[in-house]
Amino acid sequence: MTNLVQNKGTEDKLLDVHHIKKYFPIKGGILKRTVAHLKAVDDVSFSVFKGETLGIVGESGSGKSTLGRVILRLLDPTEGEIYFNGDEISKLKQRQVRSYRRDMQMVFQDPFGSLNSKMSVAELIEEPLLVQTNLSRQERKERAIKIMEKVGLRADDRLKYPHEFSGGQRQRISIARALIINPQLVICDEPVSALDVSIQAQVLNLMKDLQDEFSLTYLFIAHDLSVVKHISDRIAVMYLGRIVEIAPKRALYDNALHPYTQGLLASIPIIDTDDTKQERKKTRITGDLPSPVNPPTGCPFRTRCPLAHERCSVERPELKSPENDEHLVACHLYT
Ligand code: ADP
Ligand code: MG
Repeated sequence: MTNLVQNKGTEDKLLDVHHIKKYFPIKGGILKRTVAHLKAVDDVSFSVFKGETLGIVGESGSGKSTLGRVILRLLDPTEGEIYFNGDEISKLKQRQVRSYRRDMQMVFQDPFGSLNSKMSVAELIEEPLLVQTNLSRQERKERAIKIMEKVGLRADDRLKYPHEFSGGQRQRISIARALIINPQLVICDEPVSALDVSIQAQVLNLMKDLQDEFSLTYLFIAHDLSVVKHISDRIAVMYLGRIVEIAPKRALYDNALHPYTQGLLASIPIIDTDDTKQERKKTRITGDLPSPVNPPTGCPFRTRCPLAHERCSVERPELKSPENDEHLVACHLYT
């Protein structure tokens, strides 16, 4: 088993994911038999420690949302184990998963599609309390008003409907809904990707403040490295259903090892001075993501990798640490 314990004791682990796979069957022919599988998540292992933010980055289609949904048990894993606070939750029945739901919440990418437009803000925010607790009407209302103020919404807006709000405000509603139940882990699935750049920073800062105030642990999904830079402690880079590199944030930005990570870094527009000082390796990524139905043999990135050599098409590189235990990479350049 890959050792992903990164200088911390097991008691600090909130989430532990072992060799998770999620394959979607592809049906074909008149008999609708399974003719192939789409390997959305293909053998992913990592840990998340209490209070930290693990960023998960990769271009669209790399399996990030599927991974988040499997961890929350909104989807059943095809293989692998998920431990939450030491309890194995990967094989629980949906009925048994319910008690874990209050400890694990998700904020979705689309602030428009993810909120029921027929419900008022108060109903939306109070819903988790209604489902998960026995709080009275008055108590629910008080908790909702309190959390609305924490996320920067006006309590007076309680009776309005989602369409009356901007994208940024809607995402604040989603965040309030996720936090009202006092979760330990929040899976943030591209929570700012649909927002204007000017609003993104506000929502990210809010999420950071809320994390400190409520001792939250975040799994923070994004499709580019600029968004997760400030919020993450460690970052995992996903490509075609696999983690190709995982490292503490500084190590990843200053010393990216995987050619894919280097390519992602090269594609961030340079705006802040912090970045301009640093000489970037310009390995731009070209071409499209291969199909997860027929992924390349050996290294999944080899078809787009400027540094691919013969071994890359034959042998799948394992996630290993060439330098120290905290920085793992799956690439034959380092083995
Ligand atoms: P990301 O969030 O990184 O963009 P996704 O997890 O949404 O990636 O998707 C990974 C792959 O799995 C994609 O090829 C996508 O088309 C496929 N996929 C996602 N959900 C399903 C599903 N319910 N059924 C079949 N294929 C799916
Ligand atoms: Mg996604």
